[in-house]
Amino acid sequence: MNSKVRTYFIHLFVLIVSTLICQYSDAADKDNSKISVVVIDPGHGGKDSGASIGQAQEKDIVLDIALKLGSTIKSNYPDIEVVYTRTKDIFIPLHQRADIANKKDADLFISIHVNAVDAKSVHGTETFVLGLHRNEDNLEVAKKENAVILLEDDYNTTYEGFDPNLPESYIMFETMQEEFQGQSVMLASNIQNEFRNYAKRVDRSVKMAGFLVLRRTTMPSVLIETGFLSHSTERTYLLSESGKSQLASSIFRAFDSYKNEIEERSKFNLITENSAATASIEVTNKPTSEVQTEIKETVQAAKTTVSNTKVSTPEPELYYSVQIMALKKKLSPTPENFKNEQNIFRMDDTKISRYFSGKFETFEKADAEKDRINKKYENAFVVAFENQKLISVKKALEKR
Ligand SMILES: [Zn+2]
Repeated sequence: MNSKVRTYFIHLFVLIVSTLICQYSDAADKDNSKISVVVIDPGHGGKDSGASIGQAQEKDIVLDIALKLGSTIKSNYPDIEVVYTRTKDIFIPLHQRADIANKKDADLFISIHVNAVDAKSVHGTETFVLGLHRNEDNLEVAKKENAVILLEDDYNTTYEGFDPNLPESYIMFETMQEEFQGQSVMLASNIQNEFRNYAKRVDRSVKMAGFLVLRRTTMPSVLIETGFLSHSTERTYLLSESGKSQLASSIFRAFDSYKNEIEERSKFNLITENSAATASIEVTNKPTSEVQTEIKETVQAAKTTVSNTKVSTPEPELYYSVQIMALKKKLSPTPENFKNEQNIFRMDDTKISRYFSGKFETFEKADAEKDRINKKYENAFVVAFENQKLISVKKALEKR
């Protein structure tokens, strides 16, 4: 057996053992299979009115929509804790909004906004997830929303020199680890679907840009632009009670299907994981035949590993991989769970599990793997590891 195959089996063995250990050590954690805390963030407030045309101010409209959304969630799911970043017309710095969500260990962060531009004909809704903008229009929206930090005292220190108006500042959104992008995109798409189909709004689609308020959150998060105050018909709609209610209902409907999907998924994960852990004992959870096949394979793999772990090959200190997703749930990294991909591995930290495909000595090889796997996981991106810890790709490249 050559050393690569041997290394592979050693990894597999370590992975299986760590999977089992993680499961038990996580038992006391919060129940991550349910959406239990949602943070709703009405943009702006107080001295920061946001977009405004005449008497119409973004801060008032988004507060109304946020409160309507929160009370709809509450009346449908009394057990869910709804947290607002503000319920009154007050100024809250961007970083505090994210802190509120992080401290609450929220499962979702929904930031609500209204837009305005010079071109009076532009209208419709768009929902953003965090990332590097793909075009100038998206950058403009981010610049406008981030500009509120200029109203904060000492923003230069708080945001580490970030200048909302400088395109260069936005480079950091390219290299950052986008842990929850998959889930954020899922919610964002649901929201745009509901806006289009339920509220009959013009769909300007799901987009990506660098929003400081999203950057600091440690959970799936979206920023919704519910319409343009600069468009006269849309302004009337945004100011009307029925318009605001319809927008809030759309977001609720999107949230509702997101919640069901996430909880459905984790039910499945729970079965596969528990099954894998207890495969050699007794499976009480009556898994599906697919899951049973997986159990057999896992046990078989573990047996094979043990018989092949005679010589150990040290892990390369520095290598690249491709992150395909991050979840709060721990999935077994078997092909069945990952669209038949053979080289998936997982790393857990206290809050989330990240899933990667392959280990590569060079950035170029990892980049080629990213291009290949992008067809299955469109938000995949290259990452770097040093001594089994994630480091920035930039840093890794500097070391070579
Ligand atoms: Zn705004």
